[in-house]
Amino acid sequence: MDSEALATLLSQEGQPPYRERQIWEWLARGATGYDEMTNLPAGLRATLSVRLPISTLELIHESRADDGTDKALFRTRDGHPIETVLMRFRDGRRSVCLSSQSGCPLACTFCATGAMQFRRNLSADEIVDQALHFRRYEQLDHAVFMGMGEPMLNLDAVLAACDRLPDVGITPRRTTVSTVGWLPGMRRFTETATSRVRLALSLHAPNDRLRTELVPSNDLYPLADVLAACRLDVERRRQKVFIEYVMLAGVNDTDRDAEQLAALLDRKAFKVNLIPYNPTGPYQGSSPGRIEAFQEVLRGAGIRTTTRLTRGRAIDAACGQLAAQQVVASKI
Ligand code: SAH
Repeated sequence: MDSEALATLLSQEGQPPYRERQIWEWLARGATGYDEMTNLPAGLRATLSVRLPISTLELIHESRADDGTDKALFRTRDGHPIETVLMRFRDGRRSVCLSSQSGCPLACTFCATGAMQFRRNLSADEIVDQALHFRRYEQLDHAVFMGMGEPMLNLDAVLAACDRLPDVGITPRRTTVSTVGWLPGMRRFTETATSRVRLALSLHAPNDRLRTELVPSNDLYPLADVLAACRLDVERRRQKVFIEYVMLAGVNDTDRDAEQLAALLDRKAFKVNLIPYNPTGPYQGSSPGRIEAFQEVLRGAGIRTTTRLTRGRAIDAACGQLAAQQVVASKI
């Protein structure tokens, strides 16, 4: 919902300001149209239906994988593509993977989003509308900013969206913002730590040489500084930071890499999530046995480590696969 356009329209119609809140409450509970909003006057419902689309995003395509993952491809009103993923887990959790930008200006070598053209930052409305799309199907309880884009380059909109997610059913503690380690944004994220939104760092390498190769922004913001920024966040927010580490065969997955990684991380501050590589670029993913062995080294050092379940590969909805290819292919 374009909140500015809504506010303008309501005031043009001579409506009291509380109408905005009423409409938001309906949307947050999954309303699919104005006609459901029974506490609005019928005339207003009719006017809204004609004059204001219920979402800032137009759905272009949707696909579903057998593992219960959905991917939606949207277009913004000015024609930029974004993708959003809904993951359903056996234990009932429903997690929506949100995009913060259309495309991404940071060219991490293993990520498909980095290879597509960067378009622009998304507004808070456009971020929230991604969640609302899936809220119309079912209840949601988790959100991760792990879709397209680098959230710390669009922090104000990301934080504004985080503030609205609780109405949709997603509490701050069940909201995770993931970053490559973009320090200016991270510092501001920590300074404005009013809620317990979680922080995740995409680390992927245990030393600067390798990290700069995989995550070029490491050249600007090296590993030690980024980890120091994470520790500050842990102190301030009093909750651990997740370390994401994508497992690339023969690149960053030896026992020696695991030992080096363990030496960097204090177990009170960090939890590690190993990500099986979803083939998109020039790499091979590590074998399950290698991932297991890597995990054992970290666990042996007392660091809580899990391996991420791969979801949505069949529909190109897995980590790092979001490239909005349909839209790009049809030159929208
Ligand atoms: N820019 C932010 C948000 C994107 S999160 C960040 O990098 O943290 C997307 C996550 O998926 C990141 O951890 C990213 O490194 C990981 N990823 C990217 N490409 C991947 C791939 N091909 N396979 C597995 N994980 C990948």
